[in-house]
Amino acid sequence: MERLICTGKEGDFLVIGDQEFNHLKALRVKKGDRLEVFCEGRLFLSVLLSIEKGYALCKPLEEIDIPLPEPEVNLYQCVPLELKLMEEVIDRASQTGVNLLIPVVCKRGFQRLSIVEEKLERWKKLSLASFKQCKRPKPMQIGRPIRLSEIEAKEEVPLVLDNFSAEADVKSLELTKKSYGVLVGPEGGLSVEEVELLRSKGFKPLFLRPYVLRTEMAGAVATALIMNLAGKG
Ligand code: SAH
Repeated sequence: MERLICTGKEGDFLVIGDQEFNHLKALRVKKGDRLEVFCEGRLFLSVLLSIEKGYALCKPLEEIDIPLPEPEVNLYQCVPLELKLMEEVIDRASQTGVNLLIPVVCKRGFQRLSIVEEKLERWKKLSLASFKQCKRPKPMQIGRPIRLSEIEAKEEVPLVLDNFSAEADVKSLELTKKSYGVLVGPEGGLSVEEVELLRSKGFKPLFLRPYVLRTEMAGAVATALIMNLAGKG
């Protein structure tokens, strides 16, 4: 079933306007067709009531409240020097099942926190676009950007993806836990000091076979492996 994002409400009805209206027209849905409409953080099975000039009205029939899959994977992604690469990171992370993405400012990555903060709105829009495409129950959240030195992982199993520690592979992971944190370095990798700091904060190294992956690939591969090997639901 097609999924759209509401742009407002009119009484009990959900309004599909602006770009979402263009999307609706491109999908060629007709009056009476059923749609999933995401509105104010909730997803509704809805029926298309009417198509007006520039917007459409939908009637919500029932809330679709699917539990999130387990385990929870949160991605601590060092912001790449090439900032635009974050868009690939977001799309892939969302598709593979990341719950929360936290942009991290690292030594060899993009440095300016204020510019990263300005990007948040665009990144949240991309997360919503991916939510429509991959039919996850909730959009991937994007957290406030932080510096690597500030990280305090709250997950049961915090991991740092480390292409130098070939002894710690996926097979040695404990795959029975409820939450995993995955930290990914930028294009130029993490510095030795950063890896040391993360280890002192409880992050365990994880190596992905067999080759060195690009930063925009590594987090998605780790997430897909964890979701499928440790996953339920
Ligand atoms: N330029 C670096 C590679 C950086 S790849 C080098 O030459 O080593 C960017 C990030 O992706 C790394 O910091 C690491 O966190 C992750 N990564 C890439 N490939 C990986 C692998 N095979 N195993 C674990 N982590 C990997």
